[in-house]
Amino acid sequence: MRTLEPQESIPLAEELDRIVESTARTLLGPLDNGWNEVQEAQLRWPCTLSGAGMGRIGHAARVGRLSCLLQCLPSAREHLTKIFPEAEQSQILEAVPLDGAEGELHRLREEGIELSLQGKLAHGSEPRLNLRVPFQACRGVLGLLTRTLAEAERSAYLARGVAAGATEQQRRDTARLHSCEAGASHWVEAIPSRVGLRLNDAEFATGMRHRLGLPQLVQNGAKCQLKAEYREPTGDDLRSSNVCGQFLDPFMDHALCCQKGGGFYRVHGSLCRALANIGREAGCEVTSEEIVPELLSGEPGSDEAVEARLDLHVWAHPPFPAEWFVDVTHHHAWAVRQRSGQLRPGKTAEEAEARKYERYGPGRGGVSVTPAAVESWGRLGPEFEKLLRQLNARWGNLKQADASACAATSRRWKAELGVAQVRAMHVTCMRAARGVTTTPHGHDAANSEDR
Ligand SMILES: [Zn+2]
Repeated sequence: MRTLEPQESIPLAEELDRIVESTARTLLGPLDNGWNEVQEAQLRWPCTLSGAGMGRIGHAARVGRLSCLLQCLPSAREHLTKIFPEAEQSQILEAVPLDGAEGELHRLREEGIELSLQGKLAHGSEPRLNLRVPFQACRGVLGLLTRTLAEAERSAYLARGVAAGATEQQRRDTARLHSCEAGASHWVEAIPSRVGLRLNDAEFATGMRHRLGLPQLVQNGAKCQLKAEYREPTGDDLRSSNVCGQFLDPFMDHALCCQKGGGFYRVHGSLCRALANIGREAGCEVTSEEIVPELLSGEPGSDEAVEARLDLHVWAHPPFPAEWFVDVTHHHAWAVRQRSGQLRPGKTAEEAEARKYERYGPGRGGVSVTPAAVESWGRLGPEFEKLLRQLNARWGNLKQADASACAATSRRWKAELGVAQVRAMHVTCMRAARGVTTTPHGHDAANSEDR
C-alpha cells in the first residue's frame, strides 16, 4: 500500500475502511439507521482520542507513500551519489519521481498540517519540509500524520456541538466525545489476558454502543424496570419496591442515573474494587469502607453525629510510607444537570471532585480525602489521574521497572477500571430493560426510526 501511488492506494484503502465499518455495524447489532457520521469516524480514531481504536486505513494510505519516502529518500540519494559520482547534485535530487508524495504534502498544507525539516509538525516560522532538497531521514511520520488527521476530524465535530444552533444530538455527541477521551478508555483495546480485563460479548457490545453513542437494544416506548430492594425494619424479608416505570430513552441516559435499583452503587462498587486491586499491586495495604473518626461531623454520641465512611484507605509502611483516603464517585456526563451550559472537556469529573473537596474540607482533623471521579464514558478527574500516577510511581519503584513498563502498567490499570465500569453499567442497562429488550437479530427496523 505504501509503495502505490496515492491515486491507486487511497480508493483501495477507503474501500477497506467501509468494510471495517460495516463489520462493526454487523457485530454491534442491526442499527443501520442509528449510525451518524460522527460514530462512523469515531470507530477508527485512537481510543485516547475518544475512538474505538480501529485505525483509519484511508488516512494511512493518504500519508503512507509520503512517510515511506521520508525514510528512504535520503539513503537512496546517498546511494545514487556513490554509484554515479559524475552526476550533478541537482540531477540526483531530481532522479526520484515525487509527484504523488508532493501532491499529498500540498493537500495536507491545505488542511493546515505542515511538516518541518525534522518530520515533526511545523509551527510558526520553522523551515518546511521540501522533498526537492537534501534532508535527514524522518521516522514515525505515518503515525504522527494519521493521528493529526484523526484529531482534525474530531475537532471539527467537537466545534459543531458548541456552535450556536447546535442540535441536542450534536451537543450530546460533543459531551460524549469529551468524556470518552483518555481516562479508562484503554478497555477498548485491552487484550483479555487476565480476569480484570475480560468482558463477555454482551458486555463489550453494551460498552461499545454506549461509547459510540448508539442506541441500546431496548423496545421503543419501553419503561424502566429498575426497582429498589429493601428490608423492613422488623423483618428479614427482602422486599421490592414498584418498578421505576419512567420511559427509557434509547441511549439509557435515564437508566444510568435512575435512583432505583442502585445502579449508581453498582458501578461505584465495581470501580472501588478495581482501584483496591491497583493499590495492592502498587505495594500498598488497602481497606474498604473504613470509618474515619477525624471526619465525624456533629457532636460525637449525639443524634446529629454523622460518621464518615470512606471508600478506600490505601497506605504503605516505611521506608516509603504513604496514605490516601479515597472517595470514589461516578457521574454520567449526560445526566440532566450536565446538559445545559458550556460543554468543556472533563467538566463533569472536575466538578464532582470539587464538590467532594467542599464536603470534606482541606485536611479536616489531619485527614485529607482524595476524591476520585469517573465519568460514565471513562474520563477520570484530575485528582484520580494524579492518584494513579503516584501509585504507578510506587509500582515502578517496587518492580525496578523502566519508563515503558510503567506506562504499560498504567494503561492496563486504566483498562481494568474501564472494564469494571462497563461490566457494572451493562448489568444496570440489562436490568432496566428486563423483558423490554429487542434481540440483536430480531429487531424491527421500522420501530427504531421514530425513536
Ligand atoms: Zn428508572
